[in-house]
Amino acid sequence: MSESSSQFEIYDKDFRKIVAAGSVLAEIASGMEFTEGPVWVEREGRLIFSDIPADEMKAWSPEGLETFRKPSGHANGNTLDRRGRLITCEHGNRRVSRTEGDGKVVTLADSFNGKPLNSPNDVVVKSDGTIWFTDPPYGISPEQIAQPHNYVFRLDGGGLTPVADDFDRPNGLCFSPDEKLLYVADSSDRKHIRMFEVAGDNTLRGGAVLATIDPGVPDGIRVDMRGRLYSTAGDGVWAITPEGVLLGKILLPQTPANCTFGGPDRRTLYITARHSVYAIELTATGAQRP
Ligand code: MG
Repeated sequence: MSESSSQFEIYDKDFRKIVAAGSVLAEIASGMEFTEGPVWVEREGRLIFSDIPADEMKAWSPEGLETFRKPSGHANGNTLDRRGRLITCEHGNRRVSRTEGDGKVVTLADSFNGKPLNSPNDVVVKSDGTIWFTDPPYGISPEQIAQPHNYVFRLDGGGLTPVADDFDRPNGLCFSPDEKLLYVADSSDRKHIRMFEVAGDNTLRGGAVLATIDPGVPDGIRVDMRGRLYSTAGDGVWAITPEGVLLGKILLPQTPANCTFGGPDRRTLYITARHSVYAIELTATGAQRP
């Protein structure tokens, strides 16, 4: 494990409640093409992530790095469902898949209104088992676009339902710890993180801009148990209060695309950033489920 010197930009003293003085950013894996979709699999004590252009998913543990799946359908975002099964956005296969206990990969969604999805990008699962994902066209050429909007979708027993249709490039998404709010990044020139209220029937209300990320754009986002957001940006990972105030930045040597909490106590933030994966121990605890 090589280590970089830690580097932070601190805008509010509360940043030190998240990142203790002396915390060190460590590069735990390198040599990939473009890393994305980190998910901590607690029962296996390892991190699974995607290397999108390599058409491969990797598994990292303190013992080392290995191939998890290749080809991967150019997998992008990953998460776990209520039963701990891997849910994957397959950029290239234009579908959301689930990996069963026996390793078989099944399609959960690959079309809407009889037409192919664009290229599912990132995914989260709510505690009621519903699956929420974004469908921008990053993985396809313009002439392949079949959907009239770049939707945010909810998948439940009734199939796919668009829950938002006014994004330019919907990308990373996550729920607040109480699941009353859904945050969705718009990785276009808008650079927005937007905030929706989740109604009892799983429709969305609102959609106000909580934060604007510049330099770069917001991509992967996560929350900790206190509802603070961690958004990837052009210069690192930004820590933002639930009110949208920037507390500080974890600066990275490569531009990050996503992050997730993991480790035995969910206090390690794993960050996928271009050719590498980084980890940093926080004092905050991730709210990511399960
Ligand atoms: Mg993404």
